[in-house]
Amino acid sequence: MLSRVLTFFLVVCALCAQTPRTPQEPMKPLYVLEDSYVGWRLLPSEQAYATIDGKHLKQYVEDQAAISRRYRDNGHPQFWGRISGTEADAENARWLEEKFQKIGLAEVHQQSFDLPEQWMPQSWSVSASVGPKTLDLVSAQPAYRTPPTPPDGVDLEAIDVGLATEGELAGRDLKGKAVFFYSTDYFSRHSTISNGAWKRIGDRGAAAIFVILAVPGNIKTQFYPVGTSVPSFSLGLQDGIAIREMINQARGGPAPHVKIRLAVNMVPNLKTSTVWGTLPGASDENIVIVAHRDGWFEGANDNGTGVATMVGLAEFFAKIPKDQRRRSIIFLGTSGHHDGSALSGRWLTEHKEFFAKTALLINCEHTAAEQLVLANGSIRKTNTTTALTWYVGGSAKLGEIVVKAFDSFGVATYAIPERTAAGEMGRYQNLAPSMQVIDTGLYWHSDHETPEIIPPTGLAAITRAYAKIIADVNRVDLKDLQRPAVSTGSAR
Ligand SMILES: [Zn+2]
Repeated sequence: MLSRVLTFFLVVCALCAQTPRTPQEPMKPLYVLEDSYVGWRLLPSEQAYATIDGKHLKQYVEDQAAISRRYRDNGHPQFWGRISGTEADAENARWLEEKFQKIGLAEVHQQSFDLPEQWMPQSWSVSASVGPKTLDLVSAQPAYRTPPTPPDGVDLEAIDVGLATEGELAGRDLKGKAVFFYSTDYFSRHSTISNGAWKRIGDRGAAAIFVILAVPGNIKTQFYPVGTSVPSFSLGLQDGIAIREMINQARGGPAPHVKIRLAVNMVPNLKTSTVWGTLPGASDENIVIVAHRDGWFEGANDNGTGVATMVGLAEFFAKIPKDQRRRSIIFLGTSGHHDGSALSGRWLTEHKEFFAKTALLINCEHTAAEQLVLANGSIRKTNTTTALTWYVGGSAKLGEIVVKAFDSFGVATYAIPERTAAGEMGRYQNLAPSMQVIDTGLYWHSDHETPEIIPPTGLAAITRAYAKIIADVNRVDLKDLQRPAVSTGSAR
């Protein structure tokens, strides 16, 4: 009898375990996220910075995202953004120029540059099939400067190489195949992802390469050049899982095939510009504020936030009487670096004399994004801003000023600063005392990097901190801000 009762319970329990649970309704939010990001209450001594308003700055992020979407909707549905040399570039340069003029900056103008031939993918499609089954890999995004296919496309056997470690590649024939690898390097958009997997696969004769970026969802992600000589793409996780399953299920039979078509124009004779504006000060010394104007997709964080921060700083300091501004502030909306040419940056690098009396150079780049948490196979939104990587190149005094400003406005940072400045300022960081913060999150360079993930509180915090850094630096002589030893050419 006892054993019968036990059996009964065991069966019932087994049934419980197997009964599929009805999907639960998601919980209803108890607050409006946009209004409920964790903020910072200003001390009486910092009230002067309260006029820097996060919601006001966020409108500038929205404006720039709208420029990107206009370009997309005007006949560029796949490769879009505020891309150098395009009408979106010209429109955002005009937009910034108008902002500078409205604020009342002096010497507002565009400095034009001739771009080298620009890689402009016109259209592409990727689909996989085996037997009657077809899979459109809609999230495929060609890595920057990847070569095109012949006009009719290519039809290749598909192979899945897992994480593409040496061990997983050993003994596998990749010649002439479309090779898919999986990467949990969530933040990489580079040739270096998964310790150089692109190269390992390319060296073994692959005819096309796909990275499946393990960020939940099916996001489109724009990679920088990955150094391969065959068409190379990133793929969203949903598409990536589907193609891996298709390859796995076909084992023992004919392998799935991938049809890839990618048309690219190399477009000569395009132009871009640096947008200049100056707020004259009481001496011949200056502070230089840069923000790169280009970006992929809506580019809300990269670099909508940086440009918004720069405009916010111009607005703040324009309200202070000239005789109270020790140094001129020069604002530069640079052409950017996503296309690799970095023409504004190159010009600055070649004009070291421009920085001869620069007390501080601030690069405004990816200044605020929401902390997204990757948990249990999905991405959860939060009501806080991410911690930022940061760089300070200057005297100990400059370091103190920067840290104090972060502390005053609740700017969360990585525990240790970076050795060099990543991004736009990397080329000329050593030409003056310099500093920056940068965020690169899960959605960086993707079609999910929208204004929705930009917290106004984060924009306010960093812009206030930069304003305080400028104000505090203006109480210090130039020589006391510079790096201790003459460090041109050193690592810092
Ligand atoms: Zn950037």
